[in-house]
Amino acid sequence: MLLTFVDTLPNGDEKGIYYALDLGGTDFRVLQVQLGGRRSSILPHSVEQQSIPQDLMTSTSEDLFDFIATSLKEFVERKENSSGYSPEKRRELGFTVSFPVKQTSVSSGILMRWTRGFAIHDTVGKDIAESLQLALTRNGLNMRVVVLVNDTVGTLALGHYHDPDTVASVVIGTGTNACYVERTDAIIKCQGLVTTSGFMVVNMEWGSFWSSHLPRTSYDIDLDAESPNPNEQGFEKMISGMYLGEIVRRVILRMSQESDIFSAFSSKLSIPFILRTPLMAAMHEDNSPDLREVDEKWRQMLEVPEVPKKVRKLIVKVCDIVTRRAARLAAAGIVGILKKTGRDGGSITGSRSRGDARMRRTVVAIEGSLYTSYTMFREYLHEALREILGEDIAQHLVLEVTEDGSGLGAALLAASHSSTP
Ligand code: ADP
Repeated sequence: MLLTFVDTLPNGDEKGIYYALDLGGTDFRVLQVQLGGRRSSILPHSVEQQSIPQDLMTSTSEDLFDFIATSLKEFVERKENSSGYSPEKRRELGFTVSFPVKQTSVSSGILMRWTRGFAIHDTVGKDIAESLQLALTRNGLNMRVVVLVNDTVGTLALGHYHDPDTVASVVIGTGTNACYVERTDAIIKCQGLVTTSGFMVVNMEWGSFWSSHLPRTSYDIDLDAESPNPNEQGFEKMISGMYLGEIVRRVILRMSQESDIFSAFSSKLSIPFILRTPLMAAMHEDNSPDLREVDEKWRQMLEVPEVPKKVRKLIVKVCDIVTRRAARLAAAGIVGILKKTGRDGGSITGSRSRGDARMRRTVVAIEGSLYTSYTMFREYLHEALREILGEDIAQHLVLEVTEDGSGLGAALLAASHSSTP
């Protein structure tokens, strides 16, 4: 549960040209968004993506941010050329960072550590927004970092721009995280800090949620112990795209060791992460009567002869159990947010009044391939929401897919936190 200091969300009134920089992996993206002052279902924008050269990922902070600032400056010049690029004009930028950052204000935060192949020691422990700001100034680009956010906050902002009933966002892709709008006086970490709006967005970092009540199997325990980050991201390891295929592989490996059902055993099944989640989804969703897709995928992956029908059925069953569990846990997380904010149909004290006519419509913005591309996952998640909340309450909850919250949402937040009238 991390403070974001975001206390204003875009509502459609934003006007002007804003920029965003999305840095989260070996590629970074730059965006320009044009806002007309009235909510529009289509946001006119341009986006460009660029790879970060390998040597810069382990170089110095100055080298990395000078490279990014130069690319950003060239992008701005290209975009503004037609309207007469002016170096003096001040621009505003939303900066999305998908590395662990301890936020110190809405526009500053300390980089706690790099992940995904980056190792630039002089950035760790420093304000990452300031590192970028200094590089922008050094490279002669008149642009101010107005907000520093993570991708879930961007998703919430984009959702809120389109629909003001949006109060939370969830991302379920390679990893998983969520954020939600909380009353400032209900946030212990705020310790008396007040915001004009009376609320603040809380970055839940729910991927690292853990509780002894979470029913962990021996497969989860082994997967965690053998991962590069044991005892971290426990919830994520049961839910997200990075891990679902790997859990299935572990279950089937044990089955093949303990029974002779998998007569054609392949040593390839012992290779961690050989079964990727998209492949698992394709087998799970094989609708052919003889499960041809399962046979084909399994044979290709493990280089084994034809898979008997009963084994194909078993593979589908294991995929189903693992995905259903993941979707139900994600649904439980969403209900947790509704409960905490009094939107689950019960009062804060817990007395439930199901079907309350005064129930508020609640929108949760959602992104990530697990939800958008894995139909069974999505259906199980919806099913669990209806089951936990009951039909009467669940009908007030809308999960709204947004696209590119980490880019567009950051630009929108730059607009809603802008100092330009
Ligand atoms: P990000 O890597 O930014 O989270 P995505 O939201 O696209 O991007 O998520 C990618 C992850 O989603 C991949 O790691 C993969 O495991 C999973 N994935 C991608 N496509 C599918 C699919 N069709 N079915 C199931 N999982 C998928």
